[in-house]
Amino acid sequence: MFPEAIAAHTRACEEHWHNPSSLYREAGAAKRLLEEARERLADILGIEEPNRIVFTSGATEANNLVMAHAAASAPGQSAIISEIEHPSVLEPARKAFGERLRLAKVQSDGALDLAALEASIQSDKPALISVMAANNETGAIQPWIEAAELSKDIQFHCDAAQWLGKMPSDGLATCDWITGSAHKFGGPKGAGFLVVPEDLDSIRGGPIGGPQERGLRAGTENYPAVAAMLAALERAQQLLSGAPEIENARDGFEARILAEIPNTRVCGAGANRLWNTTMLVLPAHRNLKWLTRLSHFGFQVSTGSACSSGKENPSHVMQAMGLSFDEMGRVLRLSAGWQTSAADWKALGDALIEVWSALNSTDRESKPKIQFQAGAPSEIA
Ligand code: PLP
Repeated sequence: MFPEAIAAHTRACEEHWHNPSSLYREAGAAKRLLEEARERLADILGIEEPNRIVFTSGATEANNLVMAHAAASAPGQSAIISEIEHPSVLEPARKAFGERLRLAKVQSDGALDLAALEASIQSDKPALISVMAANNETGAIQPWIEAAELSKDIQFHCDAAQWLGKMPSDGLATCDWITGSAHKFGGPKGAGFLVVPEDLDSIRGGPIGGPQERGLRAGTENYPAVAAMLAALERAQQLLSGAPEIENARDGFEARILAEIPNTRVCGAGANRLWNTTMLVLPAHRNLKWLTRLSHFGFQVSTGSACSSGKENPSHVMQAMGLSFDEMGRVLRLSAGWQTSAADWKALGDALIEVWSALNSTDRESKPKIQFQAGAPSEIA
């Protein structure tokens, strides 16, 4: 979390912990600050009507609300979502639309195939189209602006959880529904928002309870989380101009790894990607081995959702991009933050190359000293 977000959270907990929906004077102050935060967020998003913003417990809740509402408002109609949406879009969409859900294909670089989306819209006009702004596994930037244009008179939802705070928010205001998540831009976990269409007076299929958030989302407002979310987003917006420098360092890292660890691939290399993400398919050794060794160097990396432990399901994103099962077991996902420097990318490169050499020598050491010879009797039990 940005220090600014932690400070805003602490201040809100200490000074404005009151229930914003209560009637006493201090609660009124918390309510005013909550509404002020809504206006500041609307300003960043370029939305004229702050009332379109509903504060939620994060992007998962926001995405669930969209799917529940869309299906309840258009019984019998279909929806199209990209096949690489986050599970918090994919699963509620499957539940809400069942067989009426259609998945729009991505290309092998991980970006949505717009022609396929257009053909799908023309074959049967859906009630809702949902395309994420950038993918959480590959960082591949999606053509969400073009997809929104194709949607014209169809409700369009954009899960911008990976976009906001990393990329300029220009154009987002054209979407009917927008999802955001605070912990993706240096804010707290468990906080996010949903932008809803103008004049929406109820979210059908959502949880029912108190009349908070104009009756759109029941539950006591978490003003400290909202205060921290806004402080983080405003800080991230100030840092946006520094993105090209980190992107250059990331690109330099990738070029070095491709040269030093032969047969490595960068997933989605052909697509525009977020400046902070790189997804590598390494040439050998299970990704869990790489992950464990890198953690000894102090690097916290991810295997994606590949089936490395045997318990996880293979990633639907990697499958959509055409990776084989074997390749998926060799994927490492690395992401930087605003604090990541060129020196950090260099140190990560050094560590990866050292791990590569260590894994290869361990492999050599564990190889049997006496090799099989064709036709010779085995000397190893
Ligand atoms: N959507 C995307 C694209 C994400 O990357 C994530 C988080 O990983 C989510 C939704 C879920 O966000 P939250 O953790 O706020 O529920």
